[in-house]
Amino acid sequence: MKDSQWEHLYGPVPSRRLGRSLGIDLVPYKVCTYDCVYCQLGRTTRHTLQRKEYVDSQAILGEIEAWLHEDGEADYLTFSGLGEPTLHSRLGEMIQAVRGRTDLPVVVLTNGSLLWQAEVRAEVCGADLLVPSLDAATPAGFARINRPVEGIEIEQVIEGLRRTREDCAGEMWLEVLLASGYNDSPEELQALREAVEVIQPARVQINTVVRPPAESGLQALSAEELQQAQQALGPRAEIIAPLEARELMAGERERSEAQVRELLRRRPCTLSDLAAGLNMHRNEAVKYVEALLARGEITSSQRGANSFYMLVAEPGTTGERAADESA
Ligand code: SF4
Repeated sequence: MKDSQWEHLYGPVPSRRLGRSLGIDLVPYKVCTYDCVYCQLGRTTRHTLQRKEYVDSQAILGEIEAWLHEDGEADYLTFSGLGEPTLHSRLGEMIQAVRGRTDLPVVVLTNGSLLWQAEVRAEVCGADLLVPSLDAATPAGFARINRPVEGIEIEQVIEGLRRTREDCAGEMWLEVLLASGYNDSPEELQALREAVEVIQPARVQINTVVRPPAESGLQALSAEELQQAQQALGPRAEIIAPLEARELMAGERERSEAQVRELLRRRPCTLSDLAAGLNMHRNEAVKYVEALLARGEITSSQRGANSFYMLVAEPGTTGERAADESA
């Protein structure tokens, strides 16, 4: 994987739904209309409704052009970001520009919060596939799980999704992420089912918390609860989360930290090295690195423009040896 070569591209990484997907980051960490309790990137630092060119679109297109020239193999080009990609005001132009350069299908992953705006709908309609999310359909559930910025109401979001499905030729797969005790009550599931009937997406994909979330203590649904939710959400619903998500979640942070330690035991790494080695986004790797730094298990040193992380020497070894091995 060539993650460290690009500033705005990520992967291609294997994705359960999209095969090999090249991620295109349109907004920097972490610009979003929501502050979801389950967000694996952590808390939203810029909670906003303002659309603008958060990242230079020419720089993004330049990288895509170079990637197509050098590699160019993926199942999908996926517009996403370290936040909400429809906040980028030139999303539509970038989709059109990419479509003019390659036949690879274009996907937009969005939280769906801005689709009530006609201009945003017109822009995302350029994609082959839209994967918006809808985690709750009542005002209370919406506030609890997505913590939207002031000015977004759930009724608007559902209407925006309905109109997008009507206006756009591309398929829509609606993702519903369920977290135990937040949005999985019978009342919430019934409201979601009614919203699904209004929106009429091609698929409803049920997910749950698999990666360490913004809020600690959040619980994934059990296999049985996922299956009950699938029934409640109707015939279009499918489960995309691993059925053993709850068990996986319990050990995920420990496993990921152990993997970081293991990589650093072999050689010092930059954040990009860790992200590429562990098949995760740099911003996810940051969480584990910060936790290990805070506990004094790893340390960092600056070499030129790069920060290298290394394991604190264990009894019987020396940090120098680890550093030598990286040369
Ligand atoms: S919409 Fe996505 S990026 Fe924004 S807070 Fe929710 S999960 Fe995170």
